[in-house]
Amino acid sequence: MGMTKVIVATGNSGKIREIKSIFNFSNWQIVTMKEENLAPEIIEDGQTFEENSLIKARRVREEYLKKKPLDYVNYDKVYVFADDSGLEVDALNKEPGVLSARYMGEDTSYHIKNQAIIDRLEGVKDKDRTARFVCALSSIDMDGNEIVVRETMEGYIGYKEAGENGFGYDPIFMLPEYGCTSSEIPMEEKNKISHRGKAIRKMLSILCDNEN
Ligand code: IMP
Repeated sequence: MGMTKVIVATGNSGKIREIKSIFNFSNWQIVTMKEENLAPEIIEDGQTFEENSLIKARRVREEYLKKKPLDYVNYDKVYVFADDSGLEVDALNKEPGVLSARYMGEDTSYHIKNQAIIDRLEGVKDKDRTARFVCALSSIDMDGNEIVVRETMEGYIGYKEAGENGFGYDPIFMLPEYGCTSSEIPMEEKNKISHRGKAIRKMLSILCDNEN
């Protein structure tokens, strides 16, 4: 059986850890763009998660074919996967949304960002604190075939940060069915229910169906 290579178009170490832990097929090799020495400039100027994920996937594919024009012949199939994700808080008009990473500045700590969201929700009742993580995941193969999927994880914003397992906004994101934040459950558990976990599994089932 030949190898399939997936180049993951992200530098976010939290996402990379989650994505690598979901793939456990021996004939799929998961590499990051950094491991491939790819660092294209990417301007995420899309209005939606779907647009931004496609922008990233297309740029990384272009750079891979330019820098390593013959690498893909060593594989049965090479895909670039790019996710664009973020947090939508209903009481804040779905902010921070596509700007989740850039909210209050890219270099601002999540401790500060999380506290700012809690502060902005002061006086908002439990039932109105609903929020969701959204993940749009795009794949593109070396022939240029594109697939985009979108999944969510529903929850609400808590009153204080809790948990060490997650990243980003996880410490304030309460999961109703667990009664704790998505930072308090183990990563394997989060992968079963998360926006990214669901999007990756959906993508894999589409790609595997196409191959067979
Ligand atoms: P992106 O890298 O442009 O897709 O930005 C995604 C941003 O959304 C991350 O930097 C986090 O701020 C937030 N985010 C996405 N998924 C998660 C998650 O699973 N937990 C916590 N924060 C997340």
